[in-house]
Amino acid sequence: MELNPLEQALHTARALVMADLAAADVAEADIVSLVEDAVTHRRWWVEQWPEGAEFVAGLVAQDVQDALLERYGRWPLCPACSPEEEPHALDVEPELGPDPHWVCTKAAVAVAPVGALGEVLRR
Ligand SMILES: [Zn+2]
Repeated sequence: MELNPLEQALHTARALVMADLAAADVAEADIVSLVEDAVTHRRWWVEQWPEGAEFVAGLVAQDVQDALLERYGRWPLCPACSPEEEPHALDVEPELGPDPHWVCTKAAVAVAPVGALGEVLRR
């Protein structure tokens, strides 16, 4: 079955965020349901604004990050700065745009594309 472009974007967003959660060992059952909630919310959003399909991955990542902050804590922690730094989370940039990356605003570096955090954390 061919997925329509909106479902494809949502499917990709879910896969990318799940990969980053798994990379940081936080892909537990209750956290997976946070991702599902975010995807459901953004399905509604992108149905209203189909041109935003390519922004969905960055938005779902930010939604999950916000939801985790309440339930779990800061995620994803910055792997780029030295361990002496106070632990801080990465931010998604652009906040509303295609090709989202995790960036450390402290060091002003792009750490990894959303979905590729595992390659950085496993180094
Ligand atoms: Zn940092």
